[in-house]
Amino acid sequence: MGRQYTLASEVALSGIGLHTGVTVHLRLCPAPAHTGVVFRRTDLDGFAIEAQSRHVARVSYATSLMKKGVLISTTEHLLSALAGMGVDNAIVEIDNLELPIVDGSALPFVKLIRQAGLRPQRARRSYARILKPLELADGPKKIAVYPSDTLTVSYAINFPHPVIGAQSLDFAPGARSYEDNVAPARTFGFLAEVEMLLKSGLVKGGSLENVVVLDPQRVMNPEGLRFPDEFCRHKILDLIGDISLFGHPLIGHVVADRAGHAMHARLVSQLLHQRNCWELTTDPPLRSDPVLSVPAELAVAGA
Ligand SMILES: [Zn+2]
Repeated sequence: MGRQYTLASEVALSGIGLHTGVTVHLRLCPAPAHTGVVFRRTDLDGFAIEAQSRHVARVSYATSLMKKGVLISTTEHLLSALAGMGVDNAIVEIDNLELPIVDGSALPFVKLIRQAGLRPQRARRSYARILKPLELADGPKKIAVYPSDTLTVSYAINFPHPVIGAQSLDFAPGARSYEDNVAPARTFGFLAEVEMLLKSGLVKGGSLENVVVLDPQRVMNPEGLRFPDEFCRHKILDLIGDISLFGHPLIGHVVADRAGHAMHARLVSQLLHQRNCWELTTDPPLRSDPVLSVPAELAVAGA
């Protein structure tokens, strides 16, 4: 049976926010069963914002959460790492409005979670099993979820750029590890777009240390790419973070074509409204472990 997991200890990291450029201190703390992921602004008396779809505020270049006017920005890479590594319950303390971008991927957060260790809890994990397809489109952009025995993500992108072009990847967490295949993929942007964002006061903390930047011909980062299809892998990373805002791990096949944060968020909010498309179950997926399965070596004795 699938149990809920939290962190075995507190861990901390600091870095700068991609859009604000401001230094922020992040601390991950254990939390009781059924807490989910809850952000706390320690600079605002510990004001809490639950990582849930109803608090999604802005989804253009990042997924931000807002409650009663308090914002937490660029949450998706940490949420992806927590979901990908099987953490159900955690308190995330930050002392500013934006999470650290670190190297632009989820790998630093995965390492932090490894450092904390995981602790099983008594409560069983409940999954949302997809019963009926749900399909959304916005021009050429598409996203859908279909019934399946396990969580699988299929992502396709197509950018008219010599380094990217058409890329697609199927990611079934039971077959490939999140840590090795998805977490290291960095966020990316085109030089012209980066210049435009800078003019509108965004990406103040952006650099070749935390974004893969493409000029019209090539990758500008001297170290090159971590995977030939790093771009598509990063989209899967973002998707895993964004769909965790549903509140339960999905058992279904998510298919995305040229989607992004806004469409990921729409899928989650439509699913929450279309209650006949899914059911909650404590039976773990049949075929293989879901994205939220715990790597065996991470689980420490407890509960
Ligand atoms: Zn991202």
